[in-house]
Amino acid sequence: MAAQQTVDNKYVYDFAEGNKDLKDLLGGKGANLAEMTNLGLPVPPGFTITTEACKAYLATGREPDGLAEQIEAHLESLERGMARKLGDPEDPLLVSVRSGAKFSMPGMMETVLNVGLNDRSVVGLAAQAGGNERFAWDSYRRLIQMFGKTVCEVPGEEFEHAIDEAKRAKDTHNDLDLDADDLRGLVDTYKKIFAKHTGREFPQEPREQLDLAIRAVFESWNAERAVVYRRQERIPADLGTAVNVVAMVFGNLGPDSGTGVAFTRDPASGAQGIYGDYLANAQGEDVVAGIRNTVPLQELERIDKTSYDELLGYMARLEGHYKDLCDIEFTIERGKLWMLQTRVGKRTAAAAFVIAGQLVDEGLIDLDEALHRVNGAQLAQLMFPRFRLDHEFEPVARGIGASPGAAVGKVVFSSDRAVELAAEGEPVILVRRETNPDDLNGMIASRGILTSRGGKTSHAAVVARGMGKTCVSGADELDVNVPAKKFTVAGQTVNEGDVVSIDGTTGNVYLSEVPVMPSEVVQYFEGNLDPERTDDQLVRAVHRIMTHADGTRRLLVRTNADTGPDAARARRFGAEGIGLCRTEHMFLGDRRELVERLILAGTDREREDSLAALLPLQRADFIEIFRAMDGLPVTVRLIDPPLHEFLPPLEQLAVNVAVAQERGEDVAKEQALLAAVRRMHEENPMLGLRGVRLGLVIPGLFAMQVRAITEAAVEVVRAGGSACPEIMVPLVGAVQELETVRAEAEKIIAEVVGDSGVEVLIGTMIEVPRAALTAGQIAEAAQFFSFGTNDLTQMAWGFSRDDVEGAFFWRYLELGIFGISPFESIDRDGVGRLVRIAAEEGRAARPGLKLGVCGEHGGDPDSVHFFHEVGLDYVSCSPFRVPVARLEAGRAAVVTSGSDSR
Ligand code: PEP
Ligand code: MG
Repeated sequence: MAAQQTVDNKYVYDFAEGNKDLKDLLGGKGANLAEMTNLGLPVPPGFTITTEACKAYLATGREPDGLAEQIEAHLESLERGMARKLGDPEDPLLVSVRSGAKFSMPGMMETVLNVGLNDRSVVGLAAQAGGNERFAWDSYRRLIQMFGKTVCEVPGEEFEHAIDEAKRAKDTHNDLDLDADDLRGLVDTYKKIFAKHTGREFPQEPREQLDLAIRAVFESWNAERAVVYRRQERIPADLGTAVNVVAMVFGNLGPDSGTGVAFTRDPASGAQGIYGDYLANAQGEDVVAGIRNTVPLQELERIDKTSYDELLGYMARLEGHYKDLCDIEFTIERGKLWMLQTRVGKRTAAAAFVIAGQLVDEGLIDLDEALHRVNGAQLAQLMFPRFRLDHEFEPVARGIGASPGAAVGKVVFSSDRAVELAAEGEPVILVRRETNPDDLNGMIASRGILTSRGGKTSHAAVVARGMGKTCVSGADELDVNVPAKKFTVAGQTVNEGDVVSIDGTTGNVYLSEVPVMPSEVVQYFEGNLDPERTDDQLVRAVHRIMTHADGTRRLLVRTNADTGPDAARARRFGAEGIGLCRTEHMFLGDRRELVERLILAGTDREREDSLAALLPLQRADFIEIFRAMDGLPVTVRLIDPPLHEFLPPLEQLAVNVAVAQERGEDVAKEQALLAAVRRMHEENPMLGLRGVRLGLVIPGLFAMQVRAITEAAVEVVRAGGSACPEIMVPLVGAVQELETVRAEAEKIIAEVVGDSGVEVLIGTMIEVPRAALTAGQIAEAAQFFSFGTNDLTQMAWGFSRDDVEGAFFWRYLELGIFGISPFESIDRDGVGRLVRIAAEEGRAARPGLKLGVCGEHGGDPDSVHFFHEVGLDYVSCSPFRVPVARLEAGRAAVVTSGSDSR
């Protein structure tokens, strides 16, 4: 029975049994240790306890049946292989116990080193280390410290305090000045600290140490910082961590030992070469703690040429094997090199493109794979302006890069002050501990937002990203004092009005004005940089990968644009037409009055006059757009204003009338206006008289627009151009609405088109849930559908799109109700389902029905993949996001090989 259980529930794998593709089960570290072992690289022997075991432990609070026996069996085999026994008094085997989840979560979970040391084996270790007692006692005190803190929650400061005391007694600041006797004394003190806090002696039984350490690593999956990190990085909460038990090797045995990290290319720029750091006579944790300064990896050639050459050989091999930038940790123990970890290394957005291009050149990957190695979020990052950084600019603090971009401005501490200064034309940076919905106006007025608290999903971060505004959140070195209008950082005080610069990509904060430079990638998209001629590696790589994406994608990419210049820019960025021209945007500014008169018109005459005045203005708008998009389709949406945006504010008007009356003025006209505005007033304008409803209520409004569109198209065509207008009706919920508009429109089109050859399509937005659910009927009357996923999200969730993101989404994100705002990335299960139903039923009713999307989601990387899957013909997005959508549409079309770009 027991044997059966072992086979069914295999919880422990020797390194030789795993491989790099088993990350789900063995975690990233375990899978890669297995891979290196099987490649024949010198990995210290060990085994991995699976994420399944962790999940079972976390679900029940105890180790699953069979785990203890499996650990015993693997430990025995490890002991045999090493010809040493765990904690043996004469010649002890020591092990490290390390976490390792599927996705790297640096520093978030626990590690315990030197497991197996106790009062007796410490003596054996000293003998084994050639009589190096100092080393043995130092290792023992490290075990008690790490074990105490990690496994038994003994406050770490107590150990720190004790070692500081020991150093003070010796009048030194350097750990290395403590000799074996000092460290022996420190072990005694540490044991007392341990006993005081835990009510028991430090466990002397090696196997008990091991079991408790494994348990602590399991539990660290749910440590608060790990939970917060996962939320930020959108790593699923139910993956669990694997645990690696590895024979210890020591980099701190003398000058012929050491430890280091290495990258096979520069993770910042992608440049080829050897990058890394080395620290002689040290353990990995010393490097992380920054106790002593490391030297560049190249120095190792001088220190230990044999190990250096061997390491370079392994690096080349790993890169060839993983076909990607690898990041490596290694230790040298008395001249013997050990590989402790490797993984596909994290890199900057620029490096991702450059490396993908290089790997294609080197024949390691093909262009499909290169496309898979980069993503739209990285491309978007490269399109923001950046700081021009040379050595004189040192960041004073570093927070979380919550919303990309480079912002420079004067510090303000309140929303009101931000608005005031911005109105005077000053660029401002709003600095708060955290923002809240009351700060919204200040955030809108600011160039950037800087907070000392909160992560990537804090209020500041979410709202700033929504606005496309630079934000650094959680810069916790800043001590922000809002009432005193100042903050302090690194001993310096910054007052209101002082200039700071913040980098929303890196999270860096500078106490000076850092010059900003435009993105070379945007220059390239604008056509100002010839990719064939430039020696800019990044531009060349972007060009190559974009060209492949364009050749691969099935989805077309259009743009949302309402003006000629926007349309022209989007075209340079690769837009293949306009997917949404919002005509209400053409009624702002000095035309607002005409629209107001139209809406409030008391007589047919008044209304007709307003329409007649608007017609030529509209026609001119469309001519400009058709010219910019010559030969490409242009979807013009009939007017869809929430009424309140075009009417004078009710309260203000009422006050004005009352004041004028008080003064005895003649207010008959104002009173009529007030009565009309009152009549039209809506509690929920977004659900009120908008879109097609307005068109059906105000006679002649849509007719005027249809005429203007068609006349413009005819004029462009008669002048030798080419115009392909598609008229789109907004907010349709029932086919009858569309039929009514269409009947009127077709008459006008037939009359205007004449023999010009212009063809005008008539279609509808699908943005009301009822339209999605009756798409089969609606398709009978529509020549195309375009999904308005902004309204569809608003109405499917019942979330007011103008209010909720700033009001409470931060809390929903914190609670994990969703991982990202459904206004930002399509909610596949709910809103996405409506899209799918409408696409299927629409095409069933009208085969070949043209389908697109023009909500904000059209430029969101993840959503683009969804629209590809559902079979839409195109996505449409703002001009700046067109390249991102092109890239993601290409990525969606290549068969993915399963490697993870996270
Ligand atoms: C939409 O609702 O998704 C849409 C594109 O229309 P608007 O944002 O103008 O309401
Ligand atoms: Mg809409």
